[in-house]
Amino acid sequence: MNNLKLAGGKREKTVIDVKGTVFGGREIILMAGPCAVESRQQVWQAASEVKNAGGKVLRGGVFKPRSSPYSFQGLGPIGLDYLVEAAREHDLLCVSEAIDEASMELIAAKADIIQIGARNMQNFSLLKLAGRLDKPVLLKRGLAGTVEEWLLAAEYIMAAGNPRVILCERGIRTFETSTRSTLDLSAIAVVRELSHLPVIVDPSHAAGRRELVPALSKAAIGAGADGLLIEMHPEPEAARCDGIQSLRPGELQRLARDLAPLAAALARTYPGPAAEAESLESLRGQIDQVDRQIVAMIADRLELVKRVANHKQVDKVRDGAREKEILERLMAYASELGCSEEMVKDVYGVMFDYGVRTQIERKLAGCTAYTGAK
Ligand code: PEP
Ligand code: MN
Repeated sequence: MNNLKLAGGKREKTVIDVKGTVFGGREIILMAGPCAVESRQQVWQAASEVKNAGGKVLRGGVFKPRSSPYSFQGLGPIGLDYLVEAAREHDLLCVSEAIDEASMELIAAKADIIQIGARNMQNFSLLKLAGRLDKPVLLKRGLAGTVEEWLLAAEYIMAAGNPRVILCERGIRTFETSTRSTLDLSAIAVVRELSHLPVIVDPSHAAGRRELVPALSKAAIGAGADGLLIEMHPEPEAARCDGIQSLRPGELQRLARDLAPLAAALARTYPGPAAEAESLESLRGQIDQVDRQIVAMIADRLELVKRVANHKQVDKVRDGAREKEILERLMAYASELGCSEEMVKDVYGVMFDYGVRTQIERKLAGCTAYTGAK
């Protein structure tokens, strides 16, 4: 490819050193955090999880390129301040997406890495702007961009004077509908062939579902990616953006544990989750957080259970077959997560009994037209 004067070629792999964090070296770099910064507390919690997982970069969008004009568009400059503060306080770098000249200026001034999103991969004026800055750029592959077009986009940035481009494969649009996009694993190997630039993978936007993220992450590392960009939210159910594809904190820690031996098998390194420097106090703090989430979710479940009463006759409140089906499914899930199936069985026994009792009470009290009001 003759046009890839700077991005192409078989010369030695480019190593990009961002304040001591090296992209394109032996170490696998984990970048993670919420899709969008939503509050100071949310991004702070995320930062602490990313740090514990051995991550080096905190991600968080503050200018969000949303498909719908009515969706949450990001917190803007105040969100950027929250992101930068959380990253600094946890000794992490941070990356955020720029969508136009004004946001590029702000992000270049405050963040460590500028992200150019999939939707802007061929926004040539934005690429040239990024090329004039002295900041590393994370360049995502467009939803319908060929590898050549993607590398030409990198060429735009480099030709304008900025050699520090990190490529990011994030899935492309294909005929397949079972995932949000199709992660193009072969693109990693193709980029390796055609370019010397570091390449990382965002499995979250490719998969669109958190369940698939660990497998795709490992596959990406296996295929030669230099790092991962993963969406993780302290409470995905409450996320304003991309909650379904965001890992829960525990899931990020589990993935981090799996990455260390995988990296080693590939003659690379991954620091793994933070050494056990945790204190009793910090563990109890985390347990308190989890407990609040558990109670909030039990409340949600009970609310739904109450509404189910509207659809049942008073003598048919208990549905043994349904309970059995739920238990089997959840016990299988517990086993997948390495958690006690016995405990799940016990907890759900209590949950079912309480639900049935509540429904019968509602029926007997004549609340057949219950609508959800407390
Ligand atoms: C993102 O990473 O926040 C994002 C919007 O991703 P993409 O540009 O890949 O869709
Ligand atoms: Mn997202």
